[in-house]
Amino acid sequence: MSRWNKIILIADDFVSLLFPRLCQACNEPLVRNEKLICTSCMMDIPRTGYHLQRDNPLEKKFYGRCYIQKAAAWTYYRQGGKAQKLIYRLKYGGIRPLGHFLGGLYGNVLKSSGFNEDLYCILAVPLHRSKEKKRGFNQSTLIAEGMAKTMGIPYINNIIIRTKASETQTNKHRYDRWENVEGIFSVINTADIKDKHVLLVDDVITTGSTIEACTAELLKIKGVKVSVAAIATAEK
Ligand SMILES: [Zn+2]
Repeated sequence: MSRWNKIILIADDFVSLLFPRLCQACNEPLVRNEKLICTSCMMDIPRTGYHLQRDNPLEKKFYGRCYIQKAAAWTYYRQGGKAQKLIYRLKYGGIRPLGHFLGGLYGNVLKSSGFNEDLYCILAVPLHRSKEKKRGFNQSTLIAEGMAKTMGIPYINNIIIRTKASETQTNKHRYDRWENVEGIFSVINTADIKDKHVLLVDDVITTGSTIEACTAELLKIKGVKVSVAAIATAEK
């Protein structure tokens, strides 16, 4: 190791001592070479393995609702769980690198399993313009960009928009939830993905209503096939 590299490492340790970088999932200080999530959390976060399983519980969630080719999620979304913490930090803590990081991580997993074989591009579930402006970013876009990079597939952002801001979806029956999101998306650019298989990316999938509504619009484009990937999904 060169003398200059040693100096950089020492300086890096010194900065970490003054301003410890913390794990976004457990708040423990990160050590050298750890990025955003500590090794212990990385091992602790349960993986669904859905990308290796046809007819997995996430795919089944959409049966009879909309035609989805394949669906997968990196981990489970559980109340008080680490995934919930990570998504919260990303969305409300404004930790944008976490979006690229998680997307990149899962993109690698998907690519190595051949999940991306015939995928043409990646799309993100859009936020309403006013919400994106307020938050400053769309967390799903960050995840989609991270995935695009490691999967080697382009991310395209001008295909679908959210025309209505939806209300919060908690404490509503399934039927109401569907009513709530129906017709809130609109495809603005059809030519680019005609006859193509696209990967629709969201941060978290709970009831699946958002994906369902978004997919319903995309499937209006001739020959389009839709697959879905998320960082986390509710088990039920
Ligand atoms: Zn941790």
